Amino acid sequence: MMHPWAVFLERADARRCLVDAGEMGLDEAFAGLVPAFEAIMDYDICNTCGAAPCVDPSFCESCRRADAVRKKIRPLARLLFLRRLLADDISLERAWRELQPRATATAAVREAA
Ligand SMILES: [Zn+2]
Repeated sequence: MMHPWAVFLERADARRCLVDAGEMGLDEAFAGLVPAFEAIMDYDICNTCGAAPCVDPSFCESCRRADAVRKKIRPLARLLFLRRLLADDISLERAWRELQPRATATAAVREAA
């Protein structure tokens, strides 16, 4: 069995040959080697802060948890907002206004002021 570093060098050499032959772009050749390099070097690159190793694991974990919660809440909040607009006591004009992007609403407020 080949040493993982030797396998990486073989892979890099194969990609260099493809680049030389004009069958692969330099960007693609290099980008394809990065994950293999990270794997053999056992880098633990944080997908939140991008550092290796993570500069603040507890903070990044908190960020990941907050993002996960936000991803769950946003669709639910949007659904509740849309359901509220369908209520009988909401006029068509008000529903229309509520659905307009904020920039339009801000412009309307500025115009009114
Ligand atoms: Zn991090």
